[in-house]
Amino acid sequence: MDLDSILNHVAEKVEPHRGSGKVANYIPALASVDPNKFGLAIATKDGSCYRIGDAQEAFSIQSISKVFTLSLALQKMGDALWERVGREPSGSAFNSIVQLEHEKGIPRNPLINAGAIVVTDHLVENGDADAAINTLLGVLRDHAEDPSIDIDYEVAKSESETGARNRSLAHFMASFGNLDNEVEAVLSAYFRHCALSLSCSQLARAALFLAFDGEDPVTGERIVTSQRCRRINAVMMNCGHYDNSGDFAFRIGLPGKSGVGGGVLAIAPGEGAVAVWSPGLNDAGTSTVGAIALEALMAETGWSVFG
Ligand code: GLU
Repeated sequence: MDLDSILNHVAEKVEPHRGSGKVANYIPALASVDPNKFGLAIATKDGSCYRIGDAQEAFSIQSISKVFTLSLALQKMGDALWERVGREPSGSAFNSIVQLEHEKGIPRNPLINAGAIVVTDHLVENGDADAAINTLLGVLRDHAEDPSIDIDYEVAKSESETGARNRSLAHFMASFGNLDNEVEAVLSAYFRHCALSLSCSQLARAALFLAFDGEDPVTGERIVTSQRCRRINAVMMNCGHYDNSGDFAFRIGLPGKSGVGGGVLAIAPGEGAVAVWSPGLNDAGTSTVGAIALEALMAETGWSVFG
């Protein structure tokens, strides 16, 4: 069956669930998003994009940005990054502080908030958060072949104003010597990359290299080595949805990353990159309808890496 017909089936399966879950409200600027929004886009090898629903509408990608910062930090400093951040699932909430004390300020993985803050620290050179963000924006625009991609500065401001938990994570890690820059410089970059605003189509296109061994199949540009690509996917599979990662692997069987804006990125190796958006979240902070849509997509495509 062709992908357009499959997507129509997915839309039918999703319809009765539209609007379910709870929109994130701990970041006030996210609380006003319409819970009935739903979009899905698939970018494939030849550069085609298949989409349904609100797939062209930009939303706050939040923690999905952590995949791109991880990829960039690995390109920049190589495997030395793993001395400062682990790669084990946390089994805890996205903003949990508990494991940091036992593990002496080394976060469990780069996709929880603490780990992503350490990764961001590596992207900020000499306290220059603006330069780090400009580099990241340039990379995303390049990957997505879309210079219009930008940050939603209202969301970034809202995150900063309510960012006490992220500040405490950062200060706690700094107390163990696991940050090179001032906490506020790191967080200024962290809040902005979380506030990146992309549509499902832009997001799927930007992440396409992860489905093709680290090489963009459309432009032929090598973005990360194939070993690094496999490793990023492995971290996404184990850690991409906080304490919901096991359930996501069980139901969908693809490396993925969720964000509290209701987006989910899923990588189908050798097939394509899928981005879905529906703002209502489950208790673990991942999109309720997004998971239902991906489950339906897997049932029809058989793209799960488990066969
Ligand atoms: N910006 C959010 C935070 O730091 C990201 C959380 C998420 O998307 O899971 O709390």
